Amino acid sequence: MNTEDLVLVTGAGGFIGGHLIADLKAKGFKRLRAVDIKPLDEWYQIDRTAESLSLDLNDKQSCYTAVKGAVQIFNLAADMGGMGFIEAHKADCMLSVLINTHMLLAARDGGCRRFFYSSSACVYNAAKQTDANVTALAEADAYPAQPEDGYGWEKLFSERMCRHFREDFGIETRVARYHNVYGPFGTFEGGREKAPAAICRKVIEAKLSGRHEIEIWGDGLQTRSFMYIDDCLYGTLRLMASDVAEPINIGSNELVSINQLVDIVESIAGIKLKRRYKLDAPKGVRGRNSDNTMIMAKLGWAPGIRLRDGLERTYGWIYDQMVGAKPERRAVFR
Ligand code: NAD
Repeated sequence: MNTEDLVLVTGAGGFIGGHLIADLKAKGFKRLRAVDIKPLDEWYQIDRTAESLSLDLNDKQSCYTAVKGAVQIFNLAADMGGMGFIEAHKADCMLSVLINTHMLLAARDGGCRRFFYSSSACVYNAAKQTDANVTALAEADAYPAQPEDGYGWEKLFSERMCRHFREDFGIETRVARYHNVYGPFGTFEGGREKAPAAICRKVIEAKLSGRHEIEIWGDGLQTRSFMYIDDCLYGTLRLMASDVAEPINIGSNELVSINQLVDIVESIAGIKLKRRYKLDAPKGVRGRNSDNTMIMAKLGWAPGIRLRDGLERTYGWIYDQMVGAKPERRAVFR
């Protein structure tokens, strides 16, 4: 990637997109455009030297405005959240198909050279994720298709849209299947948060209130892997610069149960909590892990930041937000 090129990041008011703009700036990119549907004062991070636009990318015309002159595009915008959100908002999740479809059309017509799409481990066949002692998911496991209802179907469809735009229209598309990303500047309250941030918040609430108990969704034996944001950013830029055209896992393969995740956060907080299991809460699949054989073969690298290390930084950031709560507390103006 040329640091003089105009680079567009959509979803830049959110978690990964905000970090990506900051990372691209740190790497010397001078012409950055950041787009999100949220008003600017609600973005998690804002770079004052970037061109920041509030646009609804469901709207085709807005996509044409967003991509004007962009040579490389990272399309991260989506209406999404953790299990609590995606199980209750399947139609909203599927409507993100408008974003990617209009973005691809605008990218093709605007002469963009490379287009990145953030897919998800939720594309994988549910039948392969029924056991907590999982066999890690390899890229071929997305088919035959039986993805997560709503959110996963949209991701799988949009992956194929990227593929066909590449094959039929010659736009270089790159597709990452992210597995659970976490870190500072992520959502930790309000209903869209994912497990690592939710557990950190609950542990901090227990610590601050003195009520030493925690509610856990499901029986706590379900398993997952969690990738720290720095690995996500590194993998995203490596993939974008590569010749890997097929969807590829970008995820940690450090498998933990939700109980083990709580153990780690408790030990960071220096506290032990009584656990209450909410068995009828949204849980998602029983077990999920990332098979990193392909990424190692193609990029010679795989995410490796230890969960404990990433959680220490995430816990510290969430703690600071909760203790110094102010309405504008998440916006950082660089
Ligand atoms: P996020 O919710 O923090 O960021 C997404 C951003 O997209 C939000 O700021 C939202 O306002 C914006 N957006 C939604 N609808 C829009 C619209 N119509 N027009 C413009 N902007 C719109 O989520 P994130 O964690 O940063 O995820 C970024 C991308 O990565 C998403 O596509 C998500 O599906 C994908 N992904 C994330 C994870 C994860 O664990 N965080 C895992 C797999 C895939």
